Amino acid sequence: MIEITAEIRAIIDKAAVSAELAGDEYIDPADGLIHCKKCKGQRQTIVPRFGKPGYFMPRCICQCQREAEEQRKAAEERQRRMERIKRRKAQGLQDRYLYDYTFANDNGQNPLMDKARAYVENWKEAYKNNTGLLLFGDVGTGKSFFAGCIANALLDRDIPVLMTNFPSILNRLTGMFTEDRAAFIASLDEYDLLIIDDLGVERSTDYAMEQMFFVIDSRYRSRRPMIITTNLKLSELKNPPDLPHARIYDRILERCAPILFDGKNFREENAGATKAAAKDLVNRKSE
Ligand SMILES: [Zn+2]
Repeated sequence: MIEITAEIRAIIDKAAVSAELAGDEYIDPADGLIHCKKCKGQRQTIVPRFGKPGYFMPRCICQCQREAEEQRKAAEERQRRMERIKRRKAQGLQDRYLYDYTFANDNGQNPLMDKARAYVENWKEAYKNNTGLLLFGDVGTGKSFFAGCIANALLDRDIPVLMTNFPSILNRLTGMFTEDRAAFIASLDEYDLLIIDDLGVERSTDYAMEQMFFVIDSRYRSRRPMIITTNLKLSELKNPPDLPHARIYDRILERCAPILFDGKNFREENAGATKAAAKDLVNRKSE
C-alpha cells in the first residue's frame, strides 16, 4: 500500500461515500478504507494506476476471509479424497464381502493378524523394497481375511490396491483380443499392491497357465509387491509338477515371504534376503 497523503485521502473519502458495504464491513476513519468488523483487517486497498494519473481502490481479502477460503479448500480436498477412496475401493474390492475384511472386524483370535497390521504400518518400506507375502495353509485359516484387511487399510489411506483371483482375471481375459489382454494385464501393475486370492483353484489348462504366467511375470517385472493366498502347500509350490507351474511359482517364491496359516500357530520359512527383510518388517511392533 502507498503512503496516504492529504490528496489521496481526499480521493479515498470521496469514494467511501458511494462504497457498498457488506453487513460485516465498515469504513475505518483512520484510513477511510473498508475493513472487516470481525478481524478489523483491510478489505480494500489503494494502488496507483500504472503509467497514468489516479488510483485504483480494489477490494482485497482480510485474514478471516483468507482462513475461510483455506478451510473451504481443505474441506473440498477431503471430499475429493473420500470420493477417490470410494472409487478405488469399488475398483479394488470387486467382491462385496471383501468390504467386511477389516481390522475393525478382527475378532483377535488369530495371532498372525499382528503381521497384517505390521505390513500396513511398514507399507512404504514394503512398497519400496517390493516385499510381497505368500499366505499359505488350509482352507478357513483366515488367509483371505488377513489379505483383505491389508487391502482395506491401504485403500483407506488412498493407496491403489486390487484384490482379485485368477478365475476372475481369466474370465476378463476370455474373449479379449491379444492386444487388449496385454493392456489389461499391464493395468494390473498400476495398482501399488496386487493381491491374488486363492492361487491354485483355477483350472490348469495351457491357456490358463500361460495367462497366469503373464500376470505374475508382468507384476514381477514391475517391481511392485504382490500378496498371494493359496491352499497349496509350500512343498507343492517348491516342487511344481511341470515347467509352466515352475515359472509361476518361482517368481512368487522369489518376491513373496511365506507365512503359514495352520490355524493354531505359525512358522516362517526364511531363505534369501527378501524373506529376511519381510520377516523383520512384518514382525515389527507398531509404534
Ligand atoms: Zn476479517
